[in-house]
Amino acid sequence: MKIITVSYRLPLSIKKTKGKAKITQSAGGLATAILSYSAKSNVNLTWVGIADFDSITWNENKDKYDQNFDIEPVFLEEELNQEFYNVFSNSVLWALFHYFPSFVEYTDDGFEAYKQANEIVAKKVSSIYEPGDVIWIHDYHFLGLPNLLREAHPDAKIGYFLHIPFPNFEIFRILPNKVKRYILEGILGSNVAGFHTWDNTIHFTECVEKILGIPHKNFLFSQESHRTKAGSFPISIDFDKFHNAYNNEEVINLRSEIKKLYGDKKIIFSVDRLDYTKGITNRLNAFEKFLEKYPEWSEKVVFLLVLVPSREEIKKYDERKKLIEHNVGHINGNMGNYKWTPIVYQYQSVSFEKLIALYTSADVALISPVRDGMNLVAKEFVASRKDLKGVLILSSMAGAAKDLKEAITINPFDAEMIAKKLCYALTMDEAEQALRLARMQRYLKKHDVFRWAEKFLTEVEEIHKNDTKAVPLKGKERDRVLQKFNEANKRLLLLDFDGTLVNLQSRPELAVPDEELLDTLNSLAEEPKNEVWIVSGRNKDFLEKWLGHLPIGIIAEHGGYVKNPEWKPVIIGEPEWKDQVIDIMQDYVDTNAESFIEVKEFGIAYHYRNVAEKQGFNTSRELLMLLKNHMYNTPTQIIDGNKVIEVKHFMAHKGTTCKNNVLRGEHDFVLAFGDDKTDEDLFELLTSENEFSVKVGKGNTAAKYRLETVEEVLVFLSELDYKSVLK
Ligand code: UDP
Repeated sequence: MKIITVSYRLPLSIKKTKGKAKITQSAGGLATAILSYSAKSNVNLTWVGIADFDSITWNENKDKYDQNFDIEPVFLEEELNQEFYNVFSNSVLWALFHYFPSFVEYTDDGFEAYKQANEIVAKKVSSIYEPGDVIWIHDYHFLGLPNLLREAHPDAKIGYFLHIPFPNFEIFRILPNKVKRYILEGILGSNVAGFHTWDNTIHFTECVEKILGIPHKNFLFSQESHRTKAGSFPISIDFDKFHNAYNNEEVINLRSEIKKLYGDKKIIFSVDRLDYTKGITNRLNAFEKFLEKYPEWSEKVVFLLVLVPSREEIKKYDERKKLIEHNVGHINGNMGNYKWTPIVYQYQSVSFEKLIALYTSADVALISPVRDGMNLVAKEFVASRKDLKGVLILSSMAGAAKDLKEAITINPFDAEMIAKKLCYALTMDEAEQALRLARMQRYLKKHDVFRWAEKFLTEVEEIHKNDTKAVPLKGKERDRVLQKFNEANKRLLLLDFDGTLVNLQSRPELAVPDEELLDTLNSLAEEPKNEVWIVSGRNKDFLEKWLGHLPIGIIAEHGGYVKNPEWKPVIIGEPEWKDQVIDIMQDYVDTNAESFIEVKEFGIAYHYRNVAEKQGFNTSRELLMLLKNHMYNTPTQIIDGNKVIEVKHFMAHKGTTCKNNVLRGEHDFVLAFGDDKTDEDLFELLTSENEFSVKVGKGNTAAKYRLETVEEVLVFLSELDYKSVLK
């Protein structure tokens, strides 16, 4: 077994100058974290990514790097890579996912290249994949990859982690429909889809529900081949590395150099890739406002602004660079003088030691992205302050703001506010600085990048392990169930009605049992060794009318009523929320001519089976969201069923009612059939050796077996009946 990590960049770069190759190996946070996990779990690591070198260079140098893991480079043609990386990944996805819709430069060619690149990488991963391996896919470059790999390896363990924000539905919907579906279906190929924050996770689940119509239960999406768990996994840093660097000799020397250079002046520091999401122009405006508003700080403060070159070939980045440099020049020219340059600007990357020296010399770190998935700089600054000095000012638009609760948070668009908070930070007493830093350091020490990787990969294993795989009720498996049935003396049959014993019809009242079904049920129930129950979502009057004469038990309204032998409600009193639900649903009935409302005692159902497919789907998504918001904090459960949305009392529950009234532990054979989400509540209970469950139709399920159609169920029941008669 091995871990296959896939990311756009490899943790290895080979640059050739004058025929000589220079290998740079980056031990970034991600690489060290996964390596540490693979060492702990005693599995190998293979890294797949796009090469920034050609295959000849690779062949010449592939033995020359420090091989603590394998590297599998993917070579993309330059033109394809340009369309895939610069156009679709960075000028569509990056811009949109960071809430810059006006920066999106969508082209069909770019999307085609993106799909092609994902397919090439999928082939590469497939060529090295062996059953049991864990595949961990990173970031927005490979949104289609989980699904491509799922199709190739249905049983694979696949994790997907998005390192940038996932936007809300209103932003996401801007993408062309085919792109939206590709992305969502792509991510749903994974067993675990990880995001930095719960906000992002909720945006994703909402988009899946609204666009694909796949509901989730506790962030778990059930699909045909597997389930996908969406969750929040905030990435972090190697805390000890940054914390211990404070006393590194080179860092000490650099720090004293910086301190000497700026003397008594307070230092404000920031470091970012030059990117429009980092709010650098906002930061400069705010700094200017600060100097205007608080002239007493003139000549007493210096702003060290480090920008790291990034994506220079993209026009928007070049434009932003010009704008920033213009603003820096403007502020220095206007506010500075021959003795004092307010902003010291550098457009170059810095070494690790210089970075730590800058972090640990700063009085204030001013980090103001207008949108950021996480922002590791904020965490690194906090971790590096072993001296417990310095203040972090952090944009609330960064994922890191959710973890670093003692930071001073700002709205990056509010220059006035930033100016005020800068003033507060620069005058904060040392005790408060220490208190805030110590608390944040305690958090970061515990929640470091190693824990992040471990949590994520453990979750992938867990979800995969618990993924139930219903097998067809055929051949040997069928014989086994029949044999168990034969051997048993006290058998229990739990049968859902609609979609299990009768096919779904355009209106519920048309789905009625025929003579043959009634005969089979009657005959099965008359055998003394058998106990037969109908476990249905229908109301009790309907079930009584059609099945009441049979010697069987009946559960109606998804568990709200039990007949044994008299009808008794499980819930006392009339639910108060029913009129409200009817009011909400009535608007949708009025605008969707073929839809209708079914009123039950403990629930209200909106049926849209007869509405035109697309219209029915779209309006049902809206109704679903509306109901969720209105019904918040009421004792209800909302079921997104097969062309029906139902609000029911939470105690009307097939699992609980069966457990309390039927599954008394005296049966030596239990067999349940069902086709819908409410039946899953019952299937989940039937886990012992003599308990069997059968899902009718498609979809992921907790059931052990599957039959495809109602007709197959009826055939199987006749077989049971035949066996009963034989005995
Ligand atoms: N960084 C770097 N080179 C530099 C300065 C900083 O690689 O010259 C690192 C920094 O230490 C941090 C990362 O770049 O780990 C930036 O991560 P962040 O999450 O803040 O922003 P991103 O660039 O990923 O959007």
